[in-house]
Amino acid sequence: MRGAALKSISDLEAAHLIAVGDSLAPVAEKYAIGITPAMLDLIDPSDPEDPIARQFVPSAAELVTTPEERADPIGDLTHSPVEGIVHRYPDRVLLKAVHVCPVYCRFCFRREMVGPQGLGTLTPAELDAATAYIADHDEIWEVILTGGDPLVLSPRRLRAIMERLAGIAHVKVVRFHTRVPVVEPERIDADMVAALRASGKTTYLAVHANHPRELSAAARAGFDRLIAGGIVLISQSVLLRGVNDDVETLAALMRGFVENRIRPYYLHHPDLAPGTGHFRVNIEEGQALVAALRGRISGLAQPTYVLDIPGGHGKADIGAASIVGSDGCFTVRDWQGGEHTYPPV
Ligand code: SF4
Repeated sequence: MRGAALKSISDLEAAHLIAVGDSLAPVAEKYAIGITPAMLDLIDPSDPEDPIARQFVPSAAELVTTPEERADPIGDLTHSPVEGIVHRYPDRVLLKAVHVCPVYCRFCFRREMVGPQGLGTLTPAELDAATAYIADHDEIWEVILTGGDPLVLSPRRLRAIMERLAGIAHVKVVRFHTRVPVVEPERIDADMVAALRASGKTTYLAVHANHPRELSAAARAGFDRLIAGGIVLISQSVLLRGVNDDVETLAALMRGFVENRIRPYYLHHPDLAPGTGHFRVNIEEGQALVAALRGRISGLAQPTYVLDIPGGHGKADIGAASIVGSDGCFTVRDWQGGEHTYPPV
């Protein structure tokens, strides 16, 4: 594995990922840069279309914003009763303890909130207030630690959060959303795995990966350690132009998850984050891709294609356009586009 993480334009130039004079300084001023050694190892610098590089190497296209894009594309801030908490659905909350990541994805939906100039890490008083909010709301069954990437926190700090949640009887499930097992797999050691467990709670961990090459040997070893530690793994991916917007790549990614005992969960339609238009596919393209997946790969490997409705209205399953109708009579579209009436006449 090569060197340290790349965090600046000069680091990228030295690694020959961008050319000297590419004029990307204005991008770096707006959005954080981060590429870990594990991801650098996966990049083929001779391939101008490399799908790993495309996710992490900044581009001048990020300076182009469109009228529909917005700083808070999924409406976190409209559902934040206290700092660090997003309470969008009755039975679950997001707990955003930290806004730092080991990598900075160029398509990030929270790109205006993460990074060294982002919303930072909750102070002890803010963490007290956030956990008090969870304790005071007995309808909260699940706490989802996201960010930023919660697994940048040390095992000691994660253990402290889990101990607080362990003391809240109505919380039954704790879920982590993280890219660490893929982008910095060496962090998934015995200490980290133990820190993610809490007495009386079930821990789920949603692994964020977008291309089958990200499921490296080191990442696979980390998944094994997490599973051996009693943690249930699910996946999340973003459908991204030039990264995974073809059925072969998506099929390999979803099969890779299943082979590693990671249940495919979400395939996100890309959000309307500023400067990310070059990553967006349209919904019809996405629906055609998930329909093609249905015919091609096992039911175990099917993700749910979801849109976070802008404005904070939550997620919608937008792959479900295979069935349309009302009054008990539906037209069901099969994976090849054939239409069938149900119940049959
Ligand atoms: S790891 Fe997640 S939160 Fe961090 S930059 Fe990537 S998409 Fe954004």
